Amino acid sequence: MKQLIAFDLDGTLAPSKTPIPDKMAQLIPKLLDKFQVCIMSGGKFQLFETQVIARLNASPEQLDKLHLMPTCGTRYYRFDPKKSKWFKVYAEDFTKEEKQKIINAIKQAVTALDMWEKKTWGEEIEDRDSQISYSALGQDVVAELGEKGVGLKEAWDPDNAKKKALVDYLVPLLPEFEVRAGGLTTVDVTKQGIDKAYGMKKLLTRLKLKKEQVLFIGDRLQEGGNDYPVKALGIDTIEVAHWQETAEAIEKLLISG
Ligand SMILES: [Mg+2]
Repeated sequence: MKQLIAFDLDGTLAPSKTPIPDKMAQLIPKLLDKFQVCIMSGGKFQLFETQVIARLNASPEQLDKLHLMPTCGTRYYRFDPKKSKWFKVYAEDFTKEEKQKIINAIKQAVTALDMWEKKTWGEEIEDRDSQISYSALGQDVVAELGEKGVGLKEAWDPDNAKKKALVDYLVPLLPEFEVRAGGLTTVDVTKQGIDKAYGMKKLLTRLKLKKEQVLFIGDRLQEGGNDYPVKALGIDTIEVAHWQETAEAIEKLLISG
């Protein structure tokens, strides 16, 4: 019997960096009546606010069962039903020196590989406190261009070769950190051992749940994908191609669970 249903955000609950669709906003509160729900992403909390929180029409009792884990669970947020607001349970942040070292290495790598894009939307290197992320087209490409931005992101590195070249360049420069391809145009740097499996383990410990009690739904569960570590941890997973498939999976859980 599953107790916790965990989701990736981008590509799973919504198109990349886009608010969750109406249908998803209606399904999640129903799911919260039956299960604990976790949403985990490489993105920062502010994206959860605009993509998820602002769209959910859920009661305090329902939100009490929702667990938000931005930046792969290096941050953990919950809802306080009494105060009626979200609060940070913990955050594991980089020091100032660590941040500077990582930012310098990313600049060096993108310059050496001649990968700076002429046209970008928003910051390319973003400090997410516990994660530094490089986004080739800028953080705001989808916020500013909408569908067209999603298209540009999908076209940037369809065979993942650019992200791989960046990761390969950065790894020897940052041996004490972990460097990973994130979303479509993103390379993320975190502390060693921080991936979605790290976040899931932390949550299981806090909620006193066993792996068997969890189901994870994500769009990048193949080896090398940013959801794969959860599967490798031995948690049951469902791979989806887009949010519509996730909605179908939720509807099945609402019937059977
Ligand atoms: Mg995804």
